[in-house]
Amino acid sequence: MFKTILVPIDMAHVAEGKANIEIAAQHADAGAKIILLNVVEDIPNWAAAELPTNLQENSLKKAKAELLAIANASGRELDIEVKSGRSYKTILEVADQRQVDMIIIASHRPGLQDYFLGSTAAKVVRHATCSVLVIR
Ligand code: ADP
Repeated sequence: MFKTILVPIDMAHVAEGKANIEIAAQHADAGAKIILLNVVEDIPNWAAAELPTNLQENSLKKAKAELLAIANASGRELDIEVKSGRSYKTILEVADQRQVDMIIIASHRPGLQDYFLGSTAAKVVRHATCSVLVIR
């Protein structure tokens, strides 16, 4: 069983994230910490100039509010992290910083069943130093 479990949630596919929270709870030791993480992708410099200046800040706020709502709806005590950056890199950084012993991640976005692993999931599986549970 695991003491600190990271559940990265893609806001475009919240249903999978919610299901993964329940799977995390089933793999958690008594008193274990479950951390929900959403990564707001950085806007490339060439595109940022064309967009409202506070877009990134607003996206971070919105993601935080949505993660809080997901955590509250779960009825469980969960930690929440919202970061900006590249998804897979940030997932791995948070896993290291928070000394996570398992990451639970969906294999890919819904509807892409032909692919074994999505791009984020594949990189997390390849580079994580802790266990990774991939949910298909
Ligand atoms: P696809 O390439 O089919 O979109 P991904 O590998 O990106 O698939 O997504 C699989 C899983 O990776 C998601 O269900 C989620 O757990 C995680 N993930 C992807 N993007 C993010 C993100 N921005 N923040 C947090 N987790 C993410």
